[in-house]
Formats: sequence, structure tokens, C-alpha cells
Amino acid sequence: MNLSIICPEGDDVARRVLHDYGAMFVGSDDILPPPACVFASEDQVSEFQNAAGGTSEKIGDAVIELQPAAMKALVEARAAAQAEGLDITPRDGAEAARRSYSDTVRLWNSRFLPALDHWTKVGRLPSEEANRLRALPINQQVSSVLELEEQGIFFSRDLSKSVLYSIAAPGTSQHIAMLAFDANEFPDARVREIMAEHGWFQTVLSDLPHFTFLGLKESELPQRGLKPVEVNNQKFWIPDV
Ligand SMILES: [Zn+2]
Repeated sequence: MNLSIICPEGDDVARRVLHDYGAMFVGSDDILPPPACVFASEDQVSEFQNAAGGTSEKIGDAVIELQPAAMKALVEARAAAQAEGLDITPRDGAEAARRSYSDTVRLWNSRFLPALDHWTKVGRLPSEEANRLRALPINQQVSSVLELEEQGIFFSRDLSKSVLYSIAAPGTSQHIAMLAFDANEFPDARVREIMAEHGWFQTVLSDLPHFTFLGLKESELPQRGLKPVEVNNQKFWIPDV
């Protein structure tokens, strides 16, 4: 897979996506990676999700949807956890797995709009500029936000860090790719080990409950262009770019 074709070098948002979420592009041949770094519309997402062929499972009260290979591995990991008296369950119900394009837009607005109000109120952003940003097409909102964040005007929920540490940019989530699962049991080292034994790894720095299905052995990850990074005694596999 040629990453510079799907995430062009001159495109800041795409390069950021590659850096932050890019592990999903280098998984096993059993999964379908997204055809682009950033999906532009609900139609494009639906077309991709249909081609990837989601399967669903009920875990507790939540119906979880994932790509078939990812689901099979998750079900097996859960059975292995349960055999040891542990469990693997979805965080925040169905949103733990597949998301639609509009889910990612809703999440974007839940950070973008309150932060605009805040920075306007404290005088860091003129209200005409805030209005201009609100009216921009969503992909341009993302690149404008990344520029403002370089000046310390942050858009995460607590306004202290980049919005992309808080949520994915619209159209870019690994959840859209149906290759991500947020697990309640992420603090348990043995659960993380069981997930890894089944091809599920932590690949998004600072998103602790979030696991990505790569369908590979841990020993295969470096040759796929991923490097290990330890944060809070947890190991993340991120693109070496
Ligand atoms: Zn997640």
C-alpha cells in the first residue's frame, strides 16, 4: 500500500490522520483498509462499509458492528478473556465499534462549536472569524482548527490540547473503517495482552480504551512500518513517519 497516495504529503489534515490513525492502513490482507485518509461524505462511507462487509454481534445490550475478520478475532479474544475470569465489553454501547460519517460530524461539532464560543468569549478569536469558521466546509474547518491550535487555541473538550487527541476529524475515524473497538477493560494488562494475541493493538496515542484490528502478530508489526511507543506503561504501535 502506498501511503503517500492515500494521504498526500501536501495535505496537512491527511498527513495528521496518517500520523495519528495510520496503523489501520497497514493491517493484514484479511481486512479492507479505507481507500482514502479522509472520507468526504456519508455516501463514500456507506460504499466503503458495504464493500468491507460488516458483521454484527450482541455484547451485553450493545450491537457491535465490525469487519468480519475483526469481529471473529474479537469474539475469540472475549472467549479467551472469559476463560480466565475476565471480560471484554464495549465502552459507550454501539459507538464502541462502527460509526457512520454523521457520527463523526456530530462528535466534531461537540468539540468545535463549544470551543469557538469559548475562545470568542475570552477574546482570543474575533466573532467575525468564529462565524467564518462555522460557515466553512467541514474539511476546511479541520485545517483551520489545526492552524489555530499551533497558536495555543485548542479545541479538545478541556481546551488544553489538540482536538484530534479528543476525537477524530470528521470522516477519518478508525471506527468508520470498522476496525476499531473501545473496550471498558483497557486498564487490565492481561486483557491488553489477550487482545494483542488476537491481532488487536493500541495504535492511537492517548486514546487508551481504543484498540485497532490489524490481524497480525506483534512480531510482524515493525516490518509493516509501525514502531512501539510506551505511554503510561501501555504499548502503542504507531506509524513510523
Ligand atoms: Zn475508539
